[in-house]
Amino acid sequence: MPELPEVETIRRAIEPLISGQHLINLELRDPSILRGDTSTLRSSIIGKLVTGVSRRGKQLLLVLEGGWAIVIHLRMTGALLLEEPDPSRRVRAVLHLSNGTRLYFNDIRRLGTIALVKDLDGCCRRLGPEPLTGDFTPDILRQCLAGHRIPVKAALLDQHIVAGVGNMYADEALYEANIHPLTPANELSPGQISRLWEAIRAVLQRAIACQGASIATYALPSGERGTAHNLFNVAHKKDAPCPRCGTPITRVMVRKRGASFCPSCQQPGNHLG
Ligand SMILES: [Zn+2]
Repeated sequence: MPELPEVETIRRAIEPLISGQHLINLELRDPSILRGDTSTLRSSIIGKLVTGVSRRGKQLLLVLEGGWAIVIHLRMTGALLLEEPDPSRRVRAVLHLSNGTRLYFNDIRRLGTIALVKDLDGCCRRLGPEPLTGDFTPDILRQCLAGHRIPVKAALLDQHIVAGVGNMYADEALYEANIHPLTPANELSPGQISRLWEAIRAVLQRAIACQGASIATYALPSGERGTAHNLFNVAHKKDAPCPRCGTPITRVMVRKRGASFCPSCQQPGNHLG
């Protein structure tokens, strides 16, 4: 599933191509992709200028003049491609820009969504803080986790607690911070909080530098693959040796999601200060 680094990579790739252009059509090959009142909303955005492309958590935001925005959520297998893929039967929508750019929303599992919104702040208000911004501090992370007795792995996946982190990067960050995924979120020591804060930012920044992780279907708009998965220590590495100690990486279920970790480096109750 595309997480923050993958969506940010897509944002950086498409912004220079579509910002400053007019949206001349939103072609819906599968109308169920659209959220909200489709007829009125759609007529409100055709012809509008795209003033920028931003991101909030895992959502891509195409900001239009007049306060409108197109909010794209890729979910499990969504991709935005500059060329029509072959076969094209998984293309659910096509955005047509005035400079001839086409963005094909390809989506094998058909879980992705496009929402047309007038109130961008309102639509993102319930998301947790952005982990790569300057105001995301160790103390903010502590406050975000403080009220939650759920396993820290589950807390990191909750977009209302921290935005943008998904299964792969949560596993990587917990490994880097030496924290067992089942540790209750509100029981992390100050030392663990600060290691986790640093690890979250490091794994996300590193993955952006590698243009995301192409474990499954993720691809850049150009069709190229990211290389961040080559740096993974535990995510998708079950039974591989831990790069630090050689112990085989194991997997536990945490609230119906798999968590990969090193049972030796990430021991429960491993409150190392
Ligand atoms: Zn280890």
